[in-house]
Amino acid sequence: MVELIHDPAAMRERVLAARMAGRRIGFVPTMGALHAGHMSLVEQAAHDCDDVVVSIFVNPTQFGPHEDFERYPRTLEADCRLLEAQRIRWIFAPDRVAMYPPGDATRVVVAGPAEPFEGTIRPGHFTGVATVVLKLFQMVPAHAAYFGAKDWQQTRVVMQMVRDLAVPIRIVVCPTIRESDGLAMSSRNAYLSASERAQAVALVQCLGRAEDLWRAAVDVTEIELAMQETLKRQGIAVDYSAIVDAESLTPLRPTSDAVALVAGRAGMTRLIDNRLLPAR
Ligand code: AMP
Repeated sequence: MVELIHDPAAMRERVLAARMAGRRIGFVPTMGALHAGHMSLVEQAAHDCDDVVVSIFVNPTQFGPHEDFERYPRTLEADCRLLEAQRIRWIFAPDRVAMYPPGDATRVVVAGPAEPFEGTIRPGHFTGVATVVLKLFQMVPAHAAYFGAKDWQQTRVVMQMVRDLAVPIRIVVCPTIRESDGLAMSSRNAYLSASERAQAVALVQCLGRAEDLWRAAVDVTEIELAMQETLKRQGIAVDYSAIVDAESLTPLRPTSDAVALVAGRAGMTRLIDNRLLPAR
């Protein structure tokens, strides 16, 4: 039976007691509106660990003032039903006051990988992410936490924070789960109209083109231009399309592992995607 917990202190006690009993705890932080992408993290956690906690919290501090916090899909009942079919032990659904008590005045600001790309386009976003993730790690002191490669920059920011603040948790990055035409699954895909949904496939096409050109040893600047062109041709308003060092997200060095990052808007809906590129 899955137990739904709202209170952070109760959550922490459960996890600490399970740890004392020698159980290995896996944690999957989410904002809910669960889809197969989230469920793949849950499956990996259940495979690796004895007990799994899934948190559901739409974190206000990671949304900009003109972003979609108010209309972000909130489907707690359906999420609980989905999770009940899985081998998980706890759903942690704190409310806003539990996460940000009155008088709350502390933020976790990560530099380095949090600065470019999403960091520039969504100022304060990664401060909100790092802050809520650190709070959640305090409330759910698990052995390992599972994140999706879909949000590649986010995984780099969380890893940087965990390393810099010596947080005793292992970060596991799981592959991106996609629709049959390649579109990365996202809770925000629900916003897309039929025509925007058709446009959205440009992101994965652009990454495919990037990988082909990369394998053909084409110059990075040229690949980036081709990526942009693929997006624009489908009517995507491009935020960025770039190939950078996969760990630091800084310009490539000869020894770098490379990642292609892409972000843009179909209508009002922002979409991001990425692909790790093979050594060349
Ligand atoms: P969110 O609810 O959007 O904050 O996402 C919660 C976690 O699920 C994050 O670690 C995301 O990277 C991960 N996630 C979201 N979409 C996907 C996907 N399509 N494939 C794999 N992981 C995903």
